Amino acid sequence: MTARLLAYASYRPAHELSRAAIGAALGMAQVGAGVRAVAGFDEDPITMAVGAIRRLPPAARRTDWLYFATSSPVFLDKTNAAFVQAAVGGSQEALTLDVCGLSSGFAALACASATGGTAVLSDLHTGRPGSTAESEGGDGAAAFLFGDGDTAVADVVAICSRSLDLMDRWRVPGQRFAHVAEERLIASVHGAAVDDVVAEVTGAAGLDGLPVRTVVAAPDRRLAATISARWGRDSAVQTWHRDHVGYCGAADVGQLTASALDRSAAGDTILVISAASSVGAMLLRVLRDGHPANAEGSGRRGRPVSYPDFLAWRGWLDREPPRRPDHAAPFPAAFHRNRDWKFALTGSRCQACGAVWLPPQRMCGSCHALDSVVPHPVADCPARLVALTTDGITGSLAPPAMAGVVDFDGGGRMSASLTDTSPGELEPGDPVQMVFRRTWADHGAPDYFWKGRPLPGGGR
Ligand SMILES: [Zn+2]
Repeated sequence: MTARLLAYASYRPAHELSRAAIGAALGMAQVGAGVRAVAGFDEDPITMAVGAIRRLPPAARRTDWLYFATSSPVFLDKTNAAFVQAAVGGSQEALTLDVCGLSSGFAALACASATGGTAVLSDLHTGRPGSTAESEGGDGAAAFLFGDGDTAVADVVAICSRSLDLMDRWRVPGQRFAHVAEERLIASVHGAAVDDVVAEVTGAAGLDGLPVRTVVAAPDRRLAATISARWGRDSAVQTWHRDHVGYCGAADVGQLTASALDRSAAGDTILVISAASSVGAMLLRVLRDGHPANAEGSGRRGRPVSYPDFLAWRGWLDREPPRRPDHAAPFPAAFHRNRDWKFALTGSRCQACGAVWLPPQRMCGSCHALDSVVPHPVADCPARLVALTTDGITGSLAPPAMAGVVDFDGGGRMSASLTDTSPGELEPGDPVQMVFRRTWADHGAPDYFWKGRPLPGGGR
């Protein structure tokens, strides 16, 4: 069975690092132009995956299958995808699956297109300071919902892969940075395998000539460009992506596919090639016009990050923190008891008087009715800041910390940390969007909760 692509969304973090800033900090002349996307200090592959899925229609949250692809898993024993499923308010009656490594993005797409369900690709990609992997890398996520439906975005015409035993890039557990084989070896082996898979998918589709759009996800920019020139006739999507986002590891193939779909019209064909670790190709036939306004390069500029902040956010630069008491370690029993509130931001609504309580309460604080409440999720409700404060005392990797009081349309008020913002940007009355983020980490184990951020595009 091959399912249809019903919906897609990409997530790009708010921050970006200029490659010139890396060169200036390290005294290097040849770092390249443009910027790389940078996940915030409180983001990781789990939170970015949540960000991508929340941009899909609600049906994606009722998925029976959730494939989560990353090369930088937050947890090794715990299933990362299960946290993603909980934070998007997804059903527990689902199989949630982690897929690992640079080729896992393509693998997740192939699996979801075969079984139906959601593939979410999310990654942080960097390398040793001064490396090409650092300056050419990027962070981001993308989500794809496959299934049966009359309102599909695209049909998967053919899909093909090759499993390669080549040691092209590798890390063993505990290593922070990847080892990379000699470029010519990678180009030779991957180039030949790409020729094979492309011939197979275009042959299976009976495609006469090159597809309208070709995107190539490969860590090496030059190799990606060479393959793109050989098998494509429009490289605008790929060039823009490398200049303004960077290679996003396992998520790269998803970000590129989403950008190509945004720029396509009904009837177009898109060839998606992944050449990282293993090699794969997928041919899509677009069924409805894309949304160029969503396309990368449509005017959005990221929040600039300094190179020292980038290193500190990723944990490569261990700065002295303020002298404050340690945060409490994650407490599994409390997490489990409060999971609907903690993960899905679900409060309670009193059926007797309609009051909304955040966090949920058994007894209504207004009419005092007991156990007459129903769940009331607010993560997707429009919200506004009622008050805000700047906190220069609490330790933060992006000081000063900010917090506010948020009111939701339909009722409910909560206090929340604010993120992706700086003093002076927000004021009371401004709309905010709730986002699932890290709060702090204890010995590397992160805790998560919901924060407010400025509504993308303003709206004041
Ligand atoms: Zn009540």
